[in-house]
Amino acid sequence: MNLEQKKAQKGTKTLTTASGRPVEDNQTSMSAGPRGPLLAQDLHLFEKMAHFNRERIPERVVHAKGAGAHGRFTVTNDISRYTRANLFSEVGKETEVFARFSLVAGESGYPDTVRDVRGFAVKFYTDEGNWDMIGNNTPVFFVRDPLKFMDFIRSQKREPDTHLRSDTMWWDFWALNPESLHQVTILMSERGIPKGYRHMNGYGSHTFSFINAENERFWVKFHFKTMQGIKNFTPEEAATLCGKDTDWAIRDLYKAIEQKAYPKWKMQVQIMPEEEAEHYRWNPFDLTKVWPHGDYPVMDVGILELNRNPTNYFAEVEQAAFSPGNLVPGIGASPDKMLQARLISYSDAHRYRLGVNYELLPVNCPKTKVHTYQRDGFMRFDENGKASVVYEPNSFGGPVEASEYLEPPLKISGNAARYKQALTDDDFVQPGNLFRLMDKKQKEALIKAVVESLGKTPPFIQERMLPYLYKADPEYGKGVAQGLGIQLRSQPQMAMP
Ligand code: NDP
Repeated sequence: MNLEQKKAQKGTKTLTTASGRPVEDNQTSMSAGPRGPLLAQDLHLFEKMAHFNRERIPERVVHAKGAGAHGRFTVTNDISRYTRANLFSEVGKETEVFARFSLVAGESGYPDTVRDVRGFAVKFYTDEGNWDMIGNNTPVFFVRDPLKFMDFIRSQKREPDTHLRSDTMWWDFWALNPESLHQVTILMSERGIPKGYRHMNGYGSHTFSFINAENERFWVKFHFKTMQGIKNFTPEEAATLCGKDTDWAIRDLYKAIEQKAYPKWKMQVQIMPEEEAEHYRWNPFDLTKVWPHGDYPVMDVGILELNRNPTNYFAEVEQAAFSPGNLVPGIGASPDKMLQARLISYSDAHRYRLGVNYELLPVNCPKTKVHTYQRDGFMRFDENGKASVVYEPNSFGGPVEASEYLEPPLKISGNAARYKQALTDDDFVQPGNLFRLMDKKQKEALIKAVVESLGKTPPFIQERMLPYLYKADPEYGKGVAQGLGIQLRSQPQMAMP
């Protein structure tokens, strides 16, 4: 409904307080005499102020600004030989979804057109519970050990003294953690400023597992390819838009759906048989690496379509809570260390942000029946299990476990220790491959973006970074060195951290 329609709508309901008492006057506070002071007995005024003071909930530490929409996922190809996940059980099967796209670093009022990774989260309301696929518009990430994550994010946020974002903090972190180069190269490429959310791909990024009906495990990567085509803003277009429309991406998604131009993504998977992980040339659980398509081709699975706008942003988008730990039978985790930490940290963040009963909120609530022994807690606004038995096992017909959902055992060995994932030459192959697949114009745009940002940092950071760029591809390193006005030796020495 647009503003004009809203204005035209005749109000016929009586205004009430939250407790349901009719409000006699919503424009005039109660005072002792016409000039005041106010009276403490004006409870409507105090309730109105008190609720207003509490309207904001904690902002997400990352991915604070976003847009969301409802839709459906339709299976187009049979992958039931790899997974028993009910949502993929037959071609044509439809599953309701809710998707949220976001910026990563900026706060909730941040301009939509800045260079940043974009979040790509989809909640599939399957018959066997919610599956949350929470990735980014990039297939890899900056770090591969979760102990580094919090520091990485702080380097992307604001300086403690100036409260400004800082190219120096970014490149200082990246130069000291060169495994980030693959993701940095994507971020600095033309795909670093997508034209809204409809024209970008989504990737599950981590390796997950599929379990089939024979209880066999496969490793899997998820891809969502935009059917609107990849489109990006040039840095110049983006800068102009920052001053014109800070909410460009939210508006673009909302308008497209309102005009019934429903955005669609083709969901694809790459599949690796379980035993191949042992011998594959890349560690398939390293989040800084892709599985090259030549080794593991993508297979079509289905179409994700977004076709319904939220009717209330706070209720449906702000309160949406996704967790990589929300997995369904047939889709499981993997040893990926970053994934292992995310399995826990997302629900932990939601308990803080929304409260312990956040899964009861309509946008988060599974469409299938939930039978749990969880009870009580703040804001328990369902029936709290009524009079049903509250412990398990019990003799009173309470829900019981179903062993047919047990995953096959995963063989794990090794001594418990802190294993450094040392930097090797291999860490520069994939960023180099990415550089080499770019055409001349794309390479120039990448180098220009790196020079512009790295150029704002002290010389020692530039000098630390250059050998890594050179190692990925000499043309990449030389191009940036030239842009920075630095004389590069033919084979710069890398300082392995
Ligand atoms: P392929 O040529 O088979 O795949 C290249 C992929 O790169 C395509 O999916 C393409 O996406 C994507 N791509 C093209 N330009 C860019 C860009 N500027 N930023 C990000 N992605 C881009 O080669 P490989 O599978 O061997 O991969 C080569 C490199 O491509 C990798 O090192 C990685 O950096 C990148 N890549 C690989 C992906 C994978 O899963 N293998 C996924 C995405 C990127 P599109 O089809 O939309 O044009």
